[in-house]
Amino acid sequence: MNVLVLGGTAEARALATALVGRAGTHVTTSLAGRVAAPAPLPGEVRVGGFGGVDGLARWLATHRVDTVVDATHPFAATMTAHAVLAAARCGVPLLVLRRPGWTESPGDDWRRVADHSAAAAMLPTLGARAFLTTGRHGLASVAHLDGLWFLVRSVDPPVPPVPARMCVVLGRGPFTPDGERALMRRHRIDVLVTRDSGGEPTFAKLVAARELGIPVVMLERPPSPAGVATVTSVGDALGRLGTRMSGARTIG
Ligand code: NAP
Repeated sequence: MNVLVLGGTAEARALATALVGRAGTHVTTSLAGRVAAPAPLPGEVRVGGFGGVDGLARWLATHRVDTVVDATHPFAATMTAHAVLAAARCGVPLLVLRRPGWTESPGDDWRRVADHSAAAAMLPTLGARAFLTTGRHGLASVAHLDGLWFLVRSVDPPVPPVPARMCVVLGRGPFTPDGERALMRRHRIDVLVTRDSGGEPTFAKLVAARELGIPVVMLERPPSPAGVATVTSVGDALGRLGTRMSGARTIG
């Protein structure tokens, strides 16, 4: 069985690692190519965009892919949408693997918003010094907020448009509550802006915000694609793929 894993996440890596050991399975992980030197992955790896839905559909046909697993980041909505269309066009089963979102605990003060512009509109009501961990797409929408100061944490240096008053720290995680608490105290942060990415390695900022009584503007995830089998753990993905290998005609 030829499996294409759309990757770029820890879950995609874990899935590829587990699949490589399975007899009769050939796994290729696809990376967007955003990271200059990605850590080595088991199985085959291809890097770079496919060239939209048409390009992905061509790739699926040329490489005789039997199953696609979309294990991209929960906010990589374009890639997911392309996977849905290309898989349907080629008649290839698609499984979406999405880690669960975060849930609030007592003491949290989260304000859920639908998108970056809603977050930007809310920010001035919550303070003057904001900690932003919303990824490279998030900065343009706050660039006009001249009255606010921003602490921006990103994997790669941000590109304009960016806010006039900001300090950038580069980092990928995992982070610890102690480290996050110290960072927020040092920069006298009033409000945290983040996305509901889910996962343990970046959860510490939310623990620190709770402990410091800092409100959190939480960007909601793009909706999961309708009518596509979706699982939330690598174990469940392996179970679904096992069913497929043992002769089921479709996944889900
Ligand atoms: P996106 O906006 O959904 O995708 C933009 C374009 O990048 C896609 O149309 C596709 O180009 C290409 N692409 C994305 N993922 C790809 C993959 N796994 N393999 C081949 N091409 C891919 O995605 P994004 O938010 O830029 O994220 C890019 C990658 O980084 C994703 O694979 C994701 O898993 C990973 N990542 C993203 C985030 C995040 O915050 N968004 C965080 C951690 C990791 P074509 O149309 O040319 O095929």
